[in-house]
Amino acid sequence: MGIATVNPATGETVKIFEPTTADEIEVKLALAETTFRQYRKISLEQRSQWLKAAADILERDQRKLGETMTLEMGKPIKSAIAEAKKCALVCRYYADNAAEFLKDVEAQTDASRSFVRYQPLGVILAVMPWNFPLWQVFRFAAPALMAGNVGILKHASNVPQCALAVEAILAEAGFPAGCFQTLLIGASQVESIINDPRVKAATLTGSESAGASLASAAGKQIKKTVLELGGSDPFIVLESADIEAAATTAVTARMLNNGQSCIAAKRFILAESIADQFQSLLVEKFKALKVGDPMNEDTDIGPLANASMLLELNQQVQETVTKGGTILLGGQVISDRPGYFYLPTILTDIPADSPGYYDEFFGPVALLFRVKDIDQAIELANDTIFGLGASAWTNEPAEQDRLIEDIEAGCVFINGMVKSDPRLPFGGIKRSGYGRELSIEGMQEFLNIKTVWIK
Ligand code: NDP
Repeated sequence: MGIATVNPATGETVKIFEPTTADEIEVKLALAETTFRQYRKISLEQRSQWLKAAADILERDQRKLGETMTLEMGKPIKSAIAEAKKCALVCRYYADNAAEFLKDVEAQTDASRSFVRYQPLGVILAVMPWNFPLWQVFRFAAPALMAGNVGILKHASNVPQCALAVEAILAEAGFPAGCFQTLLIGASQVESIINDPRVKAATLTGSESAGASLASAAGKQIKKTVLELGGSDPFIVLESADIEAAATTAVTARMLNNGQSCIAAKRFILAESIADQFQSLLVEKFKALKVGDPMNEDTDIGPLANASMLLELNQQVQETVTKGGTILLGGQVISDRPGYFYLPTILTDIPADSPGYYDEFFGPVALLFRVKDIDQAIELANDTIFGLGASAWTNEPAEQDRLIEDIEAGCVFINGMVKSDPRLPFGGIKRSGYGRELSIEGMQEFLNIKTVWIK
C-alpha cells in the first residue's frame, strides 16, 4: 500500500501520500545538521517556552488530533484524545525539569575541579510505530529537543497524517525549521538514513525484526540505538489479592488501544485458589465491552490497525486451539461488517508448544494460565523471550518483595497495571529491547556525557 491513510474501521483508503524523494531527503538532512549547530546554543529557557507552547497546541487541538489518530489506526476516540493530552504532559515535564537534568555534576578527584557536562549529540533518527502515533513520538521529541538535539522522524507508513501533525505542532510552537522533520519513507530506506554521517543515533519502537535490522545497521556505523520492542507481559494474581479490582484492571490492561500495546497485560497467571473466580469475572467483563466504530464516544474496542494484524492474530488463536487450547470467549474475526475487527477473546488450557505460550498477541486476546504457587508463577512469568513489564497482584508484603526481586522485566507494578509516566524510566530487557525512555534516564540516552578534568 505504500504510505497511506487506510481507515481500519472500514478498510477504505482515505488518502495516498507521495513519498519524500531522495533530493528532498538530502535537503532535510542538510537542514537538520545546520539547524543543530545553531539550536544547541539556544537557551534552555527558550527551548522550554517552545515546548510549553507545543503542550498548549496539543491541548487546544486534542479533538482534531484524536480524530486523526482514530481515522488512521482505529483506537477509540476517547483514548486518542487522552493520548494527545498525555503528550502535553510529557512536553511540560521536560520543559520544567530539563535544566535540572542537564546541570553539571561535580566530582571530587585528584583535579582541582572535575565534573560531568551533558551535551547533545546532534541529529537523532526516530523510527516509530502506529499504535500510539503521537505519544511515542513526543516521548522521544520532548527530551531530545530540550537537550539540544534535533529529530528526524520516520513514522509507520499507515500514520502519515499523524507524522505530519507532529511536525506541524512543533513548528507552530516556535521551534526553528530543521529541529524536527518528518520523512515519508518506507522501512527499506531507513538503513541509508542511519548510514548518513549527519545522523548520530537512532531510537526505534516496534517489532523485534525492525529493531534488529536498525540496530545492525547502526552497529556497523558505531552509532547508539535505543530499542523499545515487543512484550508478552505477565499479569499475576495471587490468593491475597483484591480479585474484583484485579479483574477490573485486567480488562483495561489487556484491552487498551484495542489490545495493541507493547505493555498490555497478555498472559494472566492465576493462583489455582482464585482462578475460577477471576476467570468468571473476566469473562463477564469482556462480554460487556462494546466493540464498534472507534469514532463513537461509547466504543470500548475498535478495529485492529490493518488487515495483516487481524490475520496474524487469528492465526495465533486458531493454532493455539489446534494444539489443545480452549476458547472461553470469542476466538474469531467479526465478519459481518467491514474493517479489521476481532472479538474480545479469552483462551485457557494453553499448551507450551503453542503460540499462546510463546508469542506476543497484539490484539484483544487474554491468555489464562493457572499455577500452584508463587514459585511457579514467577517461573512462568519469566519463561518468555520478552522482558518489558509485569503487573502482579498480592497483599502479602513478602510476596511483593519476591515479585519485585525475581521477575525479569524493565518494570514491575504491584496491584496496578503497567503504564508509562514521564516521571519514571520506561523500557525493557531481553528481546523487549534496551535503553530507556522518559525521566532523566530517557534524556541521557542521547547525550554526550562529557568528563571534564581541570588541574
Ligand atoms: P514494525 O516493527 O514493522 O513497524 C514499526 C516501525 O518500524 C515502522 O515505522 C516501520 O515502518 C519500521 N520498520 C519496519 N521494518 C523495519 C526495518 N527492517 N528497518 C527499519 N524500520 C523498520 O511493526 P508492525 O506495524 O509490522 O507490527 C508488527 C509487530 O510489531 C506487532 O505485532 C508487535 O508485536 C510489534 N509492535 C510493537 C510495538 C511496540 O509498541 N513495542 C508497536 C508496533 C508493533 P513501516 O511502517 O514503513 O513498515
